[in-house]
Amino acid sequence: MKIANGRVVALEYRLHLGDGEVIDQSAPGQPLAYLHGHKQIVPGLEGALEGLDTGESKQVVVAPAQGYGDHNPEGLRTVPRTMLPPGFTPQVGQTLMAQTEDGNVPLRIQAVNDDSVVVDLNHPLAGKTLHFDVTVREVRDATQEELTHGHVHGPGGAHG
Ligand SMILES: [Zn+2]
Repeated sequence: MKIANGRVVALEYRLHLGDGEVIDQSAPGQPLAYLHGHKQIVPGLEGALEGLDTGESKQVVVAPAQGYGDHNPEGLRTVPRTMLPPGFTPQVGQTLMAQTEDGNVPLRIQAVNDDSVVVDLNHPLAGKTLHFDVTVREVRDATQEELTHGHVHGPGGAHG
């Protein structure tokens, strides 16, 4: 069965940024399950998978605009050290979780100054070209319940 809107796809994937170093991948024997056409994976990857059949493999290169977006310089914020948790020693590359109205937002520390730190609100993969190596393990029609919920049930899906 081929990948199309409203079908559940089980996908083995590896993600790197062009230098071959794998930064994310599906666990062995546990492919990612997603509902195709429901924006559950980045648009550039979803579009490239359309029409692939079970067992097919593909290398997909996704530009930032079709991935996690371009890096927005306005996402850089300076935070006074006095607003950091007591006893916390900030280091470049660390991630802080900030509680906002939208839930927890990760703040990556980009620079550490004497009185402040500079944090980056952008997605860690913003501005990056994504290289996916994918293999389609299974394609099936979604159940009516899955379509109603907008996500996959069962292994790799929602509700445990
Ligand atoms: Zn559900």
